[in-house]
Amino acid sequence: MKVLEYMERYDYEQLSVYTDRSVGLRAFIAIHDTTLGPALGGTRIWPHPTEEDALSDVLRLARAMTYKNAAAGLNLGGGKALIIADASKDKTETMMRAYGQFVESLGGRYVTTEDVGSTTQDMEWIAQETSHVTGLPVNQGGSGDPSQMTGFGVYQGMKACAKEIWGSDSLQGRVIAMQGYGKVASYLTEHLLKERVQVIVADVSPRALERARKQGLRIVEDPQSIFDVECDIFAPCALGGAINSKTIPRLKGKLVAGCANNQLLEEGDADALQKRGILYAPDFIINAGGVINLSFEIDRPYDEEAAREKTARIYDTMERVIFTAKKEEITTAKAADRLAEERINSVKKVRKIYI
Ligand code: NAD
Repeated sequence: MKVLEYMERYDYEQLSVYTDRSVGLRAFIAIHDTTLGPALGGTRIWPHPTEEDALSDVLRLARAMTYKNAAAGLNLGGGKALIIADASKDKTETMMRAYGQFVESLGGRYVTTEDVGSTTQDMEWIAQETSHVTGLPVNQGGSGDPSQMTGFGVYQGMKACAKEIWGSDSLQGRVIAMQGYGKVASYLTEHLLKERVQVIVADVSPRALERARKQGLRIVEDPQSIFDVECDIFAPCALGGAINSKTIPRLKGKLVAGCANNQLLEEGDADALQKRGILYAPDFIINAGGVINLSFEIDRPYDEEAAREKTARIYDTMERVIFTAKKEEITTAKAADRLAEERINSVKKVRKIYI
C-alpha cells in the first residue's frame, strides 16, 4: 500500500504511529477530516497479520467515521485507532494506559471510544492518561458501551428499508440471516425478537454461538454458509468487506442491513447489489447510534432519553437516502455519501467572524 498516495487521494489529514515495546503496544491513529469537529472513532484491537492489513483497516475506518458523523448531523470529524494485538490475550492495563498517552499527545484532535476488541474497562484505563475518551462506564458519568444504542439505530434503519421494500415497516415474520453475533448483533436481536422475527446466526466464536443458542436462535454451523441461507434480510454484523463480488451472487434476501463498518469491499459492490434488486442500507447511516450516543457524553452531562430520540431519527435519515437514490437514479451508497459530503462542504462555507 502506498500510504501517502492513498491519504492524498482521499484527503486524510494525519496518520500517527506509536510503539512501546515494554508494554507490547503497536498502534496507529488515523485522522481523516476535522472540518466538523474533533475526530471521533473507536479503538480497534485486532491481531492483523501484516502492517499493510492494519494500515488499510485503520485508514478505511477513519474515513468512514467522517461520513458517519457528518451524516448523523454531529459536530464531530472522523478518525480511528488500531492496536495490533489479540484483545483476549495481549491486553493489559499498562498497554491501555500507554495508549492513553498516545491519544493525549494528539491534544484533542482525536477522541477515542470502544470498538471491536475494546471495552468500557479499557476506556477507564485510557481515561487515567487522557480526557479525550468517551464511552466511560455509567457509574463514572459516561454513557457506557455504545453497542446498545447502535443496535437500536440499526433496527430503526432496517424498519425504514422494510417500508420501502414491503410497504410496511413491520418486520414481523421476516427471516434475518446474521453474520456475527457480537455485542451490537445481540442488542439488535432483542428488538427483532420482540417483533417475532426469525434470526439465524453464524459466528466464528464458540462463546458467541453459545449465547445465541441460549436465546433459542437457529445457528448455521459453517460460518461461510450464512450467505446461502434463505432469508428476507442479510445482516452483516461481523467485520468489514463481507459484501463483495463473491458473496453478492449468493445472497437470497431483498435487503442488506447490519451494523458492521465498511460492509462493501469495493465501491462497485453497491451497483452489483442494486442490479440484483437488493436494497442496501448504507452501514454508516444505520450504525450511527453509538456515535450519536457518545456525542451526548462529550462536553455535557449524558442524557440517555435525548440520545435515544436522536438515534430514532436514523429511520428518517434512511428514508431520505432512499428518496435521494431514487430521485437521482444512484445507489443508496452514493446517496449516503452525498448527504455527508454536502454537510461537510456546507459547514466549510460558514463564515468565520471575530466574536
Ligand atoms: P463484537 O466483537 O462484539 O462482535 C463481532 C462478532 O463477529 C464476534 O462475535 C466475532 O466472533 C464475529 N465474527 C468475526 N468474524 C466473523 C466471521 N467471518 N463470520 C462470522 N462471525 C464473525 O463487535 P461489535 O461491537 O458487535 O461490532 C460489530 C461490527 O459493528 C463491527 O464491524 C464494528 O466495527 C461495527 N460497529 C460497532 C459499533 C458499536 O457500537 N459497537 C458501532 C458501529 C459499528
